[in-house]
Amino acid sequence: MNSKSTNITWHETGLTPEDRAKRNGHRGAVIWLTGLSGSGKSTIAVETQARLFEMGCQVYILDGDNIRHGLNKDLGFSPEDREENIRRIGEVAKLFADAGLIVLTSFISPYRKDRDRARTLLNPGDFVEIYVNAPLSVCEERDPKGLYQKARKGEIPEFTGISAPYEPPLKPELEIRTDRLSVEESAEKILDYLKQKRILFK
Ligand code: ADP
Repeated sequence: MNSKSTNITWHETGLTPEDRAKRNGHRGAVIWLTGLSGSGKSTIAVETQARLFEMGCQVYILDGDNIRHGLNKDLGFSPEDREENIRRIGEVAKLFADAGLIVLTSFISPYRKDRDRARTLLNPGDFVEIYVNAPLSVCEERDPKGLYQKARKGEIPEFTGISAPYEPPLKPELEIRTDRLSVEESAEKILDYLKQKRILFK
């Protein structure tokens, strides 16, 4: 989206990311979970958040349905609206990361270019793309919200994986096969990565 404002300058606010990281024991970062509906994004986000919170981290989940109730309630599921949905979420996630939080985002985010754009908002290394991957047949079998059943009956147009495309990440920082790993193992894998990359250092 083009900017409508002119004569806007960026104000420095006196605190650096390093100041916040030192106090928190971790850097601010965006952990971007992408994958089909039912692949396990929300479940993994909740488990990872619980583990990080337990360790005393500043952590927050941005979740698809919740954001669509508020900030993005004016948006639908057309390609243009999905793009705008992800653009706004990327900007909000960036602000939270600037505030020093580890942000877990849980959105299908089916288009590669939209995820790549969210990545450009963060410093290299502070955006961690995680492909939450289970075969469509497994996701459909789980169908935690009954959405696949509705989509197969034609009751939900433009449903990702059925009647709308999903573009898998080409080079995600991590891939989690949720048909092979437990929820606990999945969260563990994320924590290991955060420690290995010194996003988390306490
Ligand atoms: P999404 O947020 O991607 O739409 P959900 O987290 O809402 O998916 O649903 C995933 C379903 O799969 C849940 O019912 C969860 O209990 C189940 N599940 C089974 N194994 C895993 C796993 N390893 N990781 C995450 N979810 C899993």
